[in-house]
Amino acid sequence: MNDETTTPRPTNFIRQIIDADLAAGKNQGRVATRFPPEPNGYLHIGHAKSIVLNFGIAQDYNGSCNLRFDDTNPAKEDIEYVESIKQDVQWLGYQWTNLYYASDYFDKLYDFAVQLIKLGKAYVCDLNSEQMRELRGTLTQPGKDSPYRNRTVAENLGLFDRMRTGEFADGSRVLRAKIDMTSPNINLRDPTIYRIKKDADHHQTGKSWCIYPMYDYTHCLSDMLEGITHSICTLEFEDHRPLYDWVLDTLKTPCHPQQIEFSRLNLEYTVMSKRKLTELVQKQLVDGWSDPRMPTIAGMRRRGFTPESLRDFCNRIGVTKSDNVVEMSVLEDCIRTDLNERAIRRMAVLNPLKVTLTNCPVDKIEYLDAANHPQKPELGNRQIPFTNELYIDRNDFMEQPPKGFKRLIPGGEVRLRNAYVMRCDEVIKDAQGNVTELRCSYDAATLGVNPEGRKVGGVIHWVSARHAVRTEVRLYDRLFNVPNPDAASSKENKEYTAFLNPGSLQPLTACALEPALAEATATDRFQFEREGYFCLDEKMLALGKRVFNRTVTLRDTWAKAGK
Ligand code: ATP
Ligand code: MG
Repeated sequence: MNDETTTPRPTNFIRQIIDADLAAGKNQGRVATRFPPEPNGYLHIGHAKSIVLNFGIAQDYNGSCNLRFDDTNPAKEDIEYVESIKQDVQWLGYQWTNLYYASDYFDKLYDFAVQLIKLGKAYVCDLNSEQMRELRGTLTQPGKDSPYRNRTVAENLGLFDRMRTGEFADGSRVLRAKIDMTSPNINLRDPTIYRIKKDADHHQTGKSWCIYPMYDYTHCLSDMLEGITHSICTLEFEDHRPLYDWVLDTLKTPCHPQQIEFSRLNLEYTVMSKRKLTELVQKQLVDGWSDPRMPTIAGMRRRGFTPESLRDFCNRIGVTKSDNVVEMSVLEDCIRTDLNERAIRRMAVLNPLKVTLTNCPVDKIEYLDAANHPQKPELGNRQIPFTNELYIDRNDFMEQPPKGFKRLIPGGEVRLRNAYVMRCDEVIKDAQGNVTELRCSYDAATLGVNPEGRKVGGVIHWVSARHAVRTEVRLYDRLFNVPNPDAASSKENKEYTAFLNPGSLQPLTACALEPALAEATATDRFQFEREGYFCLDEKMLALGKRVFNRTVTLRDTWAKAGK
């Protein structure tokens, strides 16, 4: 873990449970957690909440936290996801105590299943999924026993062994826990604990197995085998807890981790389900899992988020049992706070408009000193070339300005940031009437001092045209144009993809950046003055192309627009 985390220790109901357990002398004073992703997609900001919670607890209680891949469904899993998950956890600033795969336990899980059969607590069932569903009952009606429920132990042992050796087709048989078909909790109505998957090629175990344990059965036993003390998961597993406990109680395991549920993170203007994120990637509605608009850790990293800002976010939103949707502004505020501290200031003209300074000699180059950070002299200065041809942003000039416009107008004056006051003397247009150039003059007596006898309100940024680094800059907006795409989708009976924001990516291809930005590296973070926080796009960089991404604007522009 990075030692730079200075945030105060969070408190929440889970930490209170742990405090109480420690005070009561439970678990010999040990605290052991785990983060158990299924490698069927990239991690997203919701996972970050779980990571910060689990690893954060281990850290603060001198405990341990394992990274465990919950890899019981080979059809949907892939080694690419395994690798990305490891990278993302480490990037967030955490190191696991042990790295495990649920598949490491396949032998043991098989033996436990045999034990359950011997205890008369599991049976092989030949019903197909349709028939099983019919007998399962509903929330209001009890289920009915399977005709295979009373097979003898010997018969079950024989059939389970034959399931394992590949004698039976997929779906023809399952192993079920024998609990209670009339339980009000449907999860306890003889849940399936093993299924046949003959063609699966597992990323860790290859073709060694043709039966695979189910999640609920695997999870509690994996926790137990690792000596986890507090098994923290999201609220949808609350109804599964009786099954978690039943498996461990029935097998009389030496330790019994405590499952504790908390509410999932939901974030406005995005989706968080792996199924939907996978679909966005597969249908190429985004540029892969690391698209800077995606709520994935990889996407946010590429966008320019820092690990510190994401940890700060997870601690700010807290951990509770009530579901809510977090506003995007909370996340943006975290990254702004962090980047305001660390980002180097630069000038970059995103929509260049040429300015010719008529009173500046053509061959003059003056190097002006400018601070890299206004509050941090220790970050040093850089030299910015000032010449007779500059670029300013088109938006900083208006021929017919609205009231209160503080920037450049015909005949008006403006201060060039880090340089002089300049007056617009003449506006040059093309045949269509578009402004193509401004002819201006600068006041050489105004470097770092106010002009004599007049007030100049506006300050704009600029770049020497001759020295400008011409690159693409990508501006991003929210991926969806409604706060809750899932809700909108059900309400309007449309696909959630109908609510994708068509303006979420705005590429600006001819930006003019100050020359110091030619040396930018992938890890640098910049504030382009007046425009926002930016970083180099790591994916494009790997392809040999320099593109800057806007991480976030300087202010909450959505709040301003009243959206
Ligand atoms: P799937 O959608 O495939 O079920 P999942 O989103 O639940 O996947 P897992 O890989 O099973 O993802 O999740 C790993 C861990 O992260 C789990 O403990 C899960 O509870 C937690 N987690 C997943 N999504 C969120 C979320 N939005 N907020 C908080 N924790 C989450
Ligand atoms: Mg899950």
